[in-house]
Order: sequence, then C-alpha cells, then structure tokens
Amino acid sequence: MIVPELLPDTIPLWLDKIEITDTVVELRMTSQQAGLVCPDCGQVATRTHSRYHRTLADLPWGPRQVRLVVWVRRLFCDRPRCPRRTFVESLQGLAARHARRTQLLAERQRQLGLANGGEAGARMSQRLSMPTSADTLLRQIRRTPEADSPAAPLRVIGVDDWAFRHGQRYGTLLIDHERRRPVELLPDREPKTLIDWLRQHPGIEIITRDRAQVYIDALTEGAPQAQQIADRFHLLQNLREALERFWDRHPAELRRVRIRRTLATASETAIAQNPLETAPKLKKRPLKGNSQVLQQRAGRRAQRQARFDEVHALARQGHSHRQIARQLKLARPTVKRWLATDQLPRSRGHPETSKAEPWADYLRSRWQSGCHSPRQLWYELRAQGYTGSEPGVWRWLLKLRESQVEGGPILDVRPRLPPTVQTYSLSARQAAWVLVRAPDKLKPEEQTWLQEIRGTLALTSTAYSLAQQFVTMVTARQQAELDPWLQAAESSGVRELRNFALSLRGDYSAVAAALASPYSNGPTEGHVNRLKLVKRTMYGRAKFDLLRLRVLHPA
Ligand SMILES: [Zn+2]
Repeated sequence: MIVPELLPDTIPLWLDKIEITDTVVELRMTSQQAGLVCPDCGQVATRTHSRYHRTLADLPWGPRQVRLVVWVRRLFCDRPRCPRRTFVESLQGLAARHARRTQLLAERQRQLGLANGGEAGARMSQRLSMPTSADTLLRQIRRTPEADSPAAPLRVIGVDDWAFRHGQRYGTLLIDHERRRPVELLPDREPKTLIDWLRQHPGIEIITRDRAQVYIDALTEGAPQAQQIADRFHLLQNLREALERFWDRHPAELRRVRIRRTLATASETAIAQNPLETAPKLKKRPLKGNSQVLQQRAGRRAQRQARFDEVHALARQGHSHRQIARQLKLARPTVKRWLATDQLPRSRGHPETSKAEPWADYLRSRWQSGCHSPRQLWYELRAQGYTGSEPGVWRWLLKLRESQVEGGPILDVRPRLPPTVQTYSLSARQAAWVLVRAPDKLKPEEQTWLQEIRGTLALTSTAYSLAQQFVTMVTARQQAELDPWLQAAESSGVRELRNFALSLRGDYSAVAAALASPYSNGPTEGHVNRLKLVKRTMYGRAKFDLLRLRVLHPA
C-alpha cells in the first residue's frame, strides 16, 4: 500500500508491514521513487547497485516510539564522464542526509530544546516518548536558522544590559518594540559592538534606554538619526536617589524623627513572664480560598515532586549524595532526607517567600555569632521593621540549620529580651520614599513620618512639592511642565535637586521625549528578566551562542 495520506509532502513510499510492541511501532517501508538523478551530473540513473535500509525515529504514537525502516537504493551513474560512480537516493521531505530521525521529530525536539535547554529538554523529550540526549538537543538548537529578516526594517528598539556572570561581565539585549520581541543579543556592552550593530540598521527612528552613560554615547554615535527616550521608571528612581542624598546630608534632622514600636502585646507579655515556655507551634498555614494561590501551590508541589523523582533516579544510577546535590542544586541534607523516604515530605515553608528573607544576611551572621534564639532574633528584626510573625523566624532558622552540617547548634527557645517599646530613627531611604509616594498611597504610619520630617527642616517642604510635581509630570507625561520644573528645581536651594535638574538638562532631548512618547524601556527589562530565567536553566555553563539562540527564538 502506498502511503501518501500518512506522509504527505515526501517521496512515495510503499508500506510493507507494521509491527507493534508495548513500546515501539515499527513501519517497514520501501521507497518508490522513480527517475532518480545523479547529484553531480543530473542524469537519470536506472541501474541499481544495491539496497539497504535506513532507520529513522519519528514522532511518537501516544506512549509508543515510532520507527520508520525504509528500504532505499544505491544507484550507478552510467554517464561516462561523470566523476561519481554511485549515489544514494535522498529521502527528501522525510529526513536529512545521514539523519537518524525524521525532519518532523528533529523539529519537535529542537523546539523542546529551545524552550527548556539541553538537560531539561532531553528529560522532557524522554517523557514524551521521543528519547534523545542533551548533546543532540544542543546540536539541534544550534541548527536554528537566523530569524528570517523582518518584512519591515527595525524602527523602534529598546536597549538594556544584562549580567553574564555574577555581574562581572555584561552583554547587551536589543528588542523590537513594534513586534515585541528580542532582535539581538550582543556578547558585551562595548561601544564599538553596539555602534557596528546600529550602523547595520539605519532605519531605526526611536531608541528607549535607561540613563546609564555606557549606552548614551554609543547610541548617539551609532544612530545619530534616532530619537533616544529615557526610561520613565529610571527618572523616578533618580529622583528618589537625589532625595536620599538630601537626607544623607541631614542626619541630625532625620534622627529627630523617632519611630516607636510597641512590642508588648498581651501574649508577648505572657511569654516574657514564663521564659521556659516551649516553642510556638508551627501551624499549618490555612489554605487561602483564592484558586490562583492554590494553583501556584500545586505547581510548586509538582516541581518539588519532579525534583524528588530525579533525586531517586540519579541514586538508582549509582550517583553519590554529593553528585546529586551538585547536579540538582540541592542542599546535601535535603538529598539525604529525600532518599530516606519514598514519598515526598511536606514542604517546610518557603524561604524564597519568607518575610524574613530581606534580613537573611543579618540572621546568618547573628546565628554564626552564637545567637540561636528565634525569639531574640524576632525582637531584633521587628526593631528593624520586620512585620512577619515569630513562627516565620522559626521556619527561616530551621531551614538555615537544616542547610548546615549535622550536629550543629539547635534552636534555643529561651527568650533573651523582655518585650519592650523600641524606638529608632527613620532611614534616609524611608524619608526619601515618603516624599515621592502619592499621598493617598501612604500607610497611616508613613503619613506620620511625612508630617514629622516636614517639621524638621524648612527645605523639606520645597523638596516635597518639587518631588510630587516631578512624579505627576512623569507619570501623566506632561512634557510642557519640564522647563518650568527644571527652573524651579535649580533655584530651589535644595542642592541635590539642583544637581538632579542639571543632569536632566545634560540628557534633555531624551528626557523631554520620555514625557511625550508612549514608548518606555519597561518591555526591554521584561525581556532581560526572561533572559535571566533562560540563563538560570542553563546551569551556569551557558555558552553564549546557545543563550543567544534561546533568547532570540522563544518557543
Ligand atoms: Zn553522474
């Protein structure tokens, strides 16, 4: 039977036989091509030299792998002056020369590789009944054709940098705002590299960027025709930084603003009176009714389950705890704990979402200096603005302890500090924040801070109204307000705002454009974040060319 319906767009094949086992479907076929021509001289060959079969992996049927075994011919070229004696018929449309998989399967695997990278892509490919190796997938990724040149030339682009490795080396990402996709990944942020690229794209009219000087000069030189647009978010950030410097210069005034926090609630007092009370129970967190939260939780659970399965699979293959921990980026005690059981243990809190996470360095150093009391540390964190619960600190410390060697210090349940009223002064950062925040978005506590700092220094009121005007001007894109604002800031007597205004004048065209244009650099940063995710799945041995292909060809 001829199978054009089964395999359209390919050479005619005769289906001889189908063999089906539990794991494999094998289709034995014979090529029916006629009029085969010699690839060198183009003459039709008729004399068969020999036959042999090519075995090709194809897309799976459900859980079964599919194998095509195709009988093909080797033919003589009988043209006297042709240098070629024999040639093999090609399976055009079905598989490339020498390939051991069909084009359809190769393409499917290449997509898996682009989306997941070599290692994870190979694991997923295995699960989808089309087993392959990570190395093969990487070869497929590298075969990705360069993006077909866009129908219309690039017109509006965004530029941002990204850290290649721990911030020691940087690259440059360029995106196309109109088509909302990355267009190029450059391996550095040298002016020359960027200028060369820009000169190959003379149609660029608009470029969004942040306010880092590294790019401004290169963009001006490489694309003098283009209008640069400063990023609005960074304008606001620069304003906040200027105000922070203002407060850094007035520490004494800032110290006068005292923040009081009363720690002594009824239960805390009871604990203080009974210092040997046992640890608070680590209550199971109530499930929120929000289905999205439940879904996220289920997703995390599935991810942990997959890692758990991998740990056991690697152990069965004879890998040591240390090797497994390194390969899967897990703590060794976790590997050990997981291998001691055949069911995934319940997650013990989520350090990545813990409210204590911002104080991780502080907690670690206190722990190492010998303080193992969660309550003591809870008091200390609250004095620094921590709003989480005491069990939250407990969970965090348990995680920390677990990540350390066995036999390390255990948690100490005796409280060290009696509950008390603590006061501390506002930080320059907090003081700058309340000046730029919209008044109706301030928490009651922050409103009190605002009132108090406005009372400390006459200039604060000037700084406050300038800050609020600037925020409104940027968020509502009121370009006409820019010149009056710059003049007011320059004559305000607030040194930091005057300097900020001067720096805006130095970048005037791009700043003014930011207050009129609908474009901003936010999408570029979104793509940089996606790049970081891709980079993380490459386990730190990311080759630049692979990273580039995966970023430019999102699956
Ligand atoms: Zn020939």
